[in-house]
Amino acid sequence: MSTTTANPWDAPAPEAQGRPSAFGLLPEDLEGAPGRAAHVFSRLQRPWTWREEGLCLNREAREWLAASYDTSLPVVVESHPSEDGATKVVLRLRDGERIEAVHMPREVRNPRVTLCISSQVGCAMGCTFCATGAMGIKRNLSAGEIVGQVLALIRTLGPERPHAITLVFMGMGEPLHNLDNVHRAIRILNHPGGLNISTRRITVSTSGLVPAIEKLARMEPRPWLALSLNATTDEARSRVMPVNRVWNLGRLREALDAWGLAPGEKLLLEYVLLAGENDTLEDADRLADWLGDLRHGHNINLIRMNEHPASDFRQPAEERLQAFLDRLKARGCFVTVRKSRGRDVQGACGQLLK
Ligand code: SF4
Repeated sequence: MSTTTANPWDAPAPEAQGRPSAFGLLPEDLEGAPGRAAHVFSRLQRPWTWREEGLCLNREAREWLAASYDTSLPVVVESHPSEDGATKVVLRLRDGERIEAVHMPREVRNPRVTLCISSQVGCAMGCTFCATGAMGIKRNLSAGEIVGQVLALIRTLGPERPHAITLVFMGMGEPLHNLDNVHRAIRILNHPGGLNISTRRITVSTSGLVPAIEKLARMEPRPWLALSLNATTDEARSRVMPVNRVWNLGRLREALDAWGLAPGEKLLLEYVLLAGENDTLEDADRLADWLGDLRHGHNINLIRMNEHPASDFRQPAEERLQAFLDRLKARGCFVTVRKSRGRDVQGACGQLLK
């Protein structure tokens, strides 16, 4: 008898095959390595210690790693610099699959870089405005591939100082559909012996996989959460994001209440404005109502739809966006319009597709 799953995200995505990546190891996994485990971990995770030819470890440690683990990084095969300073990067994984990431430097008083990274090859969630959603799911990235993606970006484009990095899981894939690998990668990237990226600088964006939101809420270390909302009625949201047919706006709101914001933590809400679908003043009012008492711990990011051939949606006129923004502000919401980076090289939100 054949079994069918009701939704593509019900089943776990296939995992990476082959030897595990050394970049997915925590210090406790390196107890058997020659020398101190903490030292080997640091040498794996700190690219500024590497030599031209690779890891700066003695021969015994390198041989020990090579006997059981893959020590190669994802390979940057394409680099598309945008005129706004962002660079879309295509990386090839060991099995030939390709993923995309975006490197976004920000020149302020202290230069910072935001890395937008992928968590899966493809995506099971099928959001109708998204290029990645149109390709379906191929497989999860392993924790080592996620960390390796970050290290490959740093090695290719910088920055040299790890404390200048902000990480957003907003590339290809639904990170919470690959929660175990994503969380392990966060543990590694947050580890003081490695890149030591603060959890306040790591944001995981979800389409609304409620059970995984509830699980992540209790995990340590816990990153910040971003919710890709994109509609204010169940009818519209189910059209735009099929996941809403299972976990609707009411259920999602309960999960956000249960998340429990830590002092200083903000919940990020992403709202892609789609002309004629979700951009009316009534939508703005419903959004403010839905937020309710989350009013003080949130930040809404309005995003102009980045048009691409896989979707019929179009971005609204500027006046419409401005009216939506003004209405949210008048209702006491904290709201900004996201300046989409890398738009001219198809690297902006919803455009990643390889
Ligand atoms: S928006 Fe995110 S969750 Fe939805 S299909 Fe695209 S990559 Fe997947």
